[in-house]
Amino acid sequence: MKRDTRLVMLLLLMIGCSLTSLTVWKILSSRERALAEVDVHGLNLTQALNTYTEGVVRQSSLLLLGLVERLETEGDGPAQIQRISALINRKLPLMPQLSGITLYDNQGRWLMSSNRPIPVGANSRDRAYFIHHRDDPSREPFIGPPIQSRSNREWVITISRRFNDAQGQFAGVVAVTLGVENFLRVFGKIDVGRDGAIGLSYTDGTLLVRYPFREQDMGRNFSKSPIYAKYLVEQSVGTASYTSSLDGVERLYAYRKSETLPLITTVALGKDEALAAWRTEAALSAVVVAGLLGLTGLIGWLLLLDIRRRTLAEAALHIAQQQLLESNRQLELLAMKDALTGLANRRCFDETLAVEARRAQRDGLPLALLMIDIDHFKRFNDALGHVAGDACLQAVATLLQACVRRPSDLVARYGGEEMAIIMPATGSQGAEVVAQLMLDRLHQENIPHPGSPFARVSVSIGIATATGAQLQPVLGFVEAADQSLYRAKAAGRNRFFLQGDTPKGDPLAS
Ligand code: GH3
Ligand code: MG
Ligand code: MG
Repeated sequence: MKRDTRLVMLLLLMIGCSLTSLTVWKILSSRERALAEVDVHGLNLTQALNTYTEGVVRQSSLLLLGLVERLETEGDGPAQIQRISALINRKLPLMPQLSGITLYDNQGRWLMSSNRPIPVGANSRDRAYFIHHRDDPSREPFIGPPIQSRSNREWVITISRRFNDAQGQFAGVVAVTLGVENFLRVFGKIDVGRDGAIGLSYTDGTLLVRYPFREQDMGRNFSKSPIYAKYLVEQSVGTASYTSSLDGVERLYAYRKSETLPLITTVALGKDEALAAWRTEAALSAVVVAGLLGLTGLIGWLLLLDIRRRTLAEAALHIAQQQLLESNRQLELLAMKDALTGLANRRCFDETLAVEARRAQRDGLPLALLMIDIDHFKRFNDALGHVAGDACLQAVATLLQACVRRPSDLVARYGGEEMAIIMPATGSQGAEVVAQLMLDRLHQENIPHPGSPFARVSVSIGIATATGAQLQPVLGFVEAADQSLYRAKAAGRNRFFLQGDTPKGDPLAS
């Protein structure tokens, strides 16, 4: 049963361990999957936003290219500017993402502005894009850092081209302004959660647009930030996880450099938010598994209780069985014992004689049988009563028992006041010694017997001894002992008689 308990405990432990490790493994792998999905999602978003930004920039560049050609072929006199202005005003409504177009002469003075009259004395020679084109003969478009409009404080990004005069000298700049607001509107349609952010930066780390909008970040250079330094410099596309030093929020970044423009799109999602669904699922799994484990534990506990109950019941049964066996043994002993004298009873005598007779035949050893009968016992009863008769029987039985020494010797009550002794491996000589000893002891005991000619209790003993085939049949052997007893009685009692011999009297008999 202890083994059963141990097995159940082992089984429970194994179920518990495997269920727990499986759940932990499942939760961890689903976390990895959730993070990988966030990465893929982020990379797809950067791709889509990149395409959008490239489209806007390309559209602006093409528009600028057309204007530059026109300015360079037709010049920038008032009439030409007038015509260009009219053309722009027709085109601009078709391109809602463009805030406006402005023309500057080679001194930075405003020649034309698409969406408002030129402010008096307006000059942009200090703007980065103007300085770039003035000092760089390249005809490529230039994407400038975000600037705040001097008139309406709106944040804009400029895309500009330089135009030359007929001598190939710097004649001015044409600039398209893209309202940051427009980008924010597009970015804002994408759900990046509470902690998420979308960024558009220049490859040198200058932030052009950030959603959600933060005034303090506009135009800031992030080239020193760990995420920029570690990843963006070396790879054109990738993902990274990074804890912001500003708000302490860990974010999952997906970034992509434009293949055609010096721009980087970044999509960041708060890790906590991104893992919210996974966390719910993990908590649910944990609760279900904990419930299952609890149930398994409960069933195991009930099983252990049952085993314990069964063990106790079996132990009780075992004890009851032992008691029953002991009772049976006692009963058997009782069945073999004479109640009055405590000697073996007749049944035991018969069985033992049969066994010893067979053994003696088998081993070729002699067997002696003594039949002992109390003399004139009827008279003893008549004189002293049956109770005294019983006590006398008990005293004689005890005495006879004391005269035999070997454990194999059996003293039995044959019936009434007649007793018998079976003595295995004993010849006539040994039997005679024992018979004589009994007579002597009884004489010494000197139990008064008013009806006896000896005035004390005495016995007559008939002895039979036999070896081998003489023991068959056993009844003949008993008969022989009985005959000897009869002869001892007939010869005057208080003596023993050995079969085929002359009776030997009590030497102390009077
Ligand atoms: P004998 O010398 O020839 O043997 O004479 P006896 O009187 O002993 O022989 P008998 O067979 O005539 O009488 C036996 C008596 O033993 C009869 C009976 O009352 C008595 N007796 C037998 N069994 C018991 C017993 O268990 N208790 C008592 N008190 N007496 C018994
Ligand atoms: Mg008698
Ligand atoms: Mg008798």
